Parts: sequence; C-alpha cells; structure tokens
Amino acid sequence: MPEGDSLHRAARRLQVLAGQRVEVETPHPRAATKQLAERLDGRRLESVEAVGKNLLLHFEGGLVLRSHLRMNGRWRIERRGARRSGQPWLVLRGAEHEAVLWNGPVLELARDGGRLRHLGPDILATPPDFAAMLNRFRDEQQARTVGDALLDQRLVAGIGNMWKAEALWQARVSPWRALSDVSDEELLETLHQAARLMRGRLDGVRPLHHVYRRAGRMCHRCGGVIRSHPQGEAARTAYWCAGCQVGGRPPKA
Ligand SMILES: [Zn+2]
Repeated sequence: MPEGDSLHRAARRLQVLAGQRVEVETPHPRAATKQLAERLDGRRLESVEAVGKNLLLHFEGGLVLRSHLRMNGRWRIERRGARRSGQPWLVLRGAEHEAVLWNGPVLELARDGGRLRHLGPDILATPPDFAAMLNRFRDEQQARTVGDALLDQRLVAGIGNMWKAEALWQARVSPWRALSDVSDEELLETLHQAARLMRGRLDGVRPLHHVYRRAGRMCHRCGGVIRSHPQGEAARTAYWCAGCQVGGRPPKA
C-alpha cells in the first residue's frame, strides 16, 4: 500500500514535468472512458502536490487531476518514448520525460478555485444518483446553457465533450437551451443517456457517433444538418442536429 511518504516521493519525481505543456494519453480502456486525454492534452502542468494519500496535479485552466493509488497504483518517470508493455492508466509526456501511472483506479478531474471544490455525483456510479445530479443542476444559474452545464464537474462528474454531445442528441435536447427552458424530464433523460452510453463503452461497446465530429453531415434520425460551435467558458465544441435538437442558439461570432 503506497503511504504518504511514497506519494510525496512520487510528487517530487513528477516535478520534472512541472511548467511544461504535456501530451496526455490514457492507454487503459477504463481510463479512456474518463476522457482525461481529451480534457488535459496540451495543457501546462503547473504543479504537483501530495495531499494525504492523494496526488494532486494542477493543470492550467484551474483543472486538478486527483490520483489515489489505492493498493497497487504506481507513478513512474521514464525517458520520453521509453518502451513498455502493458496498458498504463495515464501517460503525461513532456519534452524529455514522461510520467506513467500504472494501476491507478482512482483518477478524477476537478476544477480548482484556489481550493479543491467538490465533484458532483459520478455518472459511472452503480447506480448513478440522478436525483442528486438534478438537484445540482437546479441549484445552478438557470440562464446557463444545458450543454455548458453538462461539462461542469461540480454538477455531474465524468461527462466529457463527446458524451455530452451524444447524450443531448439521444435526448433530443439542444445544447443551446437555457437550463430554465429544459424540463426535469429532459434533463434526466439526457443524464440517463450519458450514463447508458458511457457504461456501454466501459463494457466494450464500440461508440457510434451521431453528432460528435460530424459537423456538416446528415443526421441519422431526421436527415437534418449537424452543426458545431464553441460553447461555454472553455469554448469546447458543441455538436447538435439543427433538425431534431431545436431551441436556443449559439452566440453570434
Ligand atoms: Zn436530427
């Protein structure tokens, strides 16, 4: 069992990457579903610290990756491009070194407002606490667009840009509608769809994209045109069908 001191040693070793923009890969399929690579790749790793039995990796943009090593987790520092066999959970690649996480079952991304804020209910919990998620969405600013809110890890933890787009399409909800305009039933349906799709991916179902990265192409359901536009503070690209996900509109450029 890794103890506090070994975590501090790991934090010290990881300092070789501090200040660098890192390439991020998640070779292990269970880690891939967390969409960490998509959210962290190319960001600067600002600092690394050990807190209790957690390793906190602070990335630019206020994102904090929490790694708890449980029984067998281990961080190793290797030369960039070192050969290895097997599937590590996470690889952070800097100019000369790469940090490799093996067996890291607890890996969570949170937003940091100076201190670690609480994550929302996990979309991959068994079963997910949809009622608690709904409460968090309703406590949020209702003028916020539903597409933006779905990516807020304080409201629901674990949904990334791809599953956001696909879940909204499944539920026939436009990402541009304000929360005030989205019914509880629609919100719950969207969250159920996200959980179903992500659980399926975890169980090895190959994802079929209906809107994600299909801008300009035809909707499989209604024949409408798939559109895309940056959304929210982080300007993540939203994808939706102009035919069957109506309501709200993207801001003018
Ligand atoms: Zn459509």
